[in-house]
Amino acid sequence: MDAAHTTVTPVVWMPETVQEAYALYQEYFPDAEWIAGGTWRQVEREKGRAFTGNVIVLERISGLASLQEEEKYVRIGACMTLEQLIENPVISREILGETLRRIAAPAVRTRGTIGGNIMYGHGDALPALIALQAELEIWNGESYACIPVEEAASYDGVFLLTAVLLPKTLEKGPDEVHFFEKIGRREAFTASLLAVSGCIRRQGGGSIRARLALVGGKDAPVRLRRAEACVAEPGWTPESFFEALAADYQPEDEPFSSGNYRLQAAAHLFLSHLWLEDKAEKGGVHKT
Ligand SMILES: Cc1cc2nc3c(=O)[nH]c(=O)nc-3n(C[C@H](O)[C@H](O)[C@H](O)COP(=O)(O)OP(=O)(O)OC[C@H]3O[C@@H](n4cnc5c(N)ncnc54)[C@H](O)[C@@H]3O)c2cc1C
Repeated sequence: MDAAHTTVTPVVWMPETVQEAYALYQEYFPDAEWIAGGTWRQVEREKGRAFTGNVIVLERISGLASLQEEEKYVRIGACMTLEQLIENPVISREILGETLRRIAAPAVRTRGTIGGNIMYGHGDALPALIALQAELEIWNGESYACIPVEEAASYDGVFLLTAVLLPKTLEKGPDEVHFFEKIGRREAFTASLLAVSGCIRRQGGGSIRARLALVGGKDAPVRLRRAEACVAEPGWTPESFFEALAADYQPEDEPFSSGNYRLQAAAHLFLSHLWLEDKAEKGGVHKT
């Protein structure tokens, strides 16, 4: 066998604390990586990205695999699996529950974690968490900190994700809608080309208070602040929304979808909730 095809068997570390997991990573970096459920990393390995020499498994760290209800938020340990969260009554009634039910297949959801979904950078949970104003609890080697989900990709430094802090939503009235939509190359069991989510409240005169976010292809997740500002204006139209969305989101072409396709698809998915649902309720659009 030539040297290029020699596989190195990694050393597997099983730390029991967050601090130990972080210290191991620092000690062996760049030849080290954290692994939670391993479902995403295994696919990457099959695509040719070998494991580093030191694999630091997070599953024995207590506190990363449990959920606690606090007064204003739910603390979700980063190593909770997607399936555990789907089964949890607090999560299942939120739009996050609907989002998780639509990720992959049961076998992946039984191993795959919420932390892994966030940290691989393009997981479907990201836009829903941004729309719901969730924050990430992280350990940065010196202290714990909380950062908005949308800031994770641009965080200056390495961090271990320890939990997701999900604000408790109040009982939703008829004017409040939470939604999640995704499109992929197949109907199910496939990574999505685009996932969008929003939490919206209709106000007088057609204006909408909204938090909107998306993740598409290899792009980092985006909170759509210009699109949110657009729909807050009473006289907004689908055309003005599209312009604002295009200012927020400039996707590149990728092998299975052009940037323009993802932009157009995102506009249609958002408008189906922001515009058509409202018009249909008022009888302006035929709804079957
Ligand atoms: C067949 C198949 C279908 C899939 N379909 C979907 C889909 O529809 N939607 C979707 O969103 N995803 C999908 N995935 C991707 C993925 O498996 C899931 O998103 C899963 O939640 C990843 O979690 P994991 O624990 O397995 O991550 P891992 O593979 O263990 O880790 C993923 C990355 O995150 C890092 N990481 C993990 N935990 C932490 C932490 N606590 N702190 C810092 N870094 C961390 C790891 O270092 C690694 O880089 C699919 C995967 C497969 C195999």
